[in-house]
Amino acid sequence: MHSFVFLAGDVALDFVNTVMVQERTLVDTVSQPAELAAWVAESSLGADYGVPTSVSRAVHSRAVELRVTLKAGFAALASGEPMSDDALAHLNAVLADDPGTELVRDDAGALRRRPRIDLGRDASALPWILADAAARVLVDGRAQQLRRCANHDTCVLMFLDSSRSRNRRWCSMELCGNRNKVAAHSARARQSVGDPRTS
Ligand SMILES: [Zn+2]
Repeated sequence: MHSFVFLAGDVALDFVNTVMVQERTLVDTVSQPAELAAWVAESSLGADYGVPTSVSRAVHSRAVELRVTLKAGFAALASGEPMSDDALAHLNAVLADDPGTELVRDDAGALRRRPRIDLGRDASALPWILADAAARVLVDGRAQQLRRCANHDTCVLMFLDSSRSRNRRWCSMELCGNRNKVAAHSARARQSVGDPRTS
């Protein structure tokens, strides 16, 4: 089982970031349905919508196909280009599975409106949740915050730059920021790191 990273600032991007470089190789950390279920459990979705007891192959495929579209769409926006019509059509196809909404009382007794989903009973709404999270990013102003980690050589992670000064460059200091500081002082260190995109 792989370890997951949750550093993007939104679950839709965290999901895109399930494809990442580990030990200089590009890996899919949710390549199996059970891994996807484990990812949901660790993500913010688990607390909100329950943890799937199992994820079917069909739901897994649907989620992974959506991830390809989201990655392409987010990457386009991060480089100042529009999301393609194909990506939009795919997103809309998944959003068509709208599970409906329900009202629940919070701890203080106030009513809250939320999607009618219990992943613990039925994980089939998982692609919809991810598409809905992505749709929110696209329309609520956060699309302008989409960034790709500045460590282009060995990192493919994306994130939302919500810093006040809009100058977040790295997915995280631990994964890339510190490493790049060190690399800047050592050409040898830089040359020893392979490019995962060419392997
Ligand atoms: Zn990075």
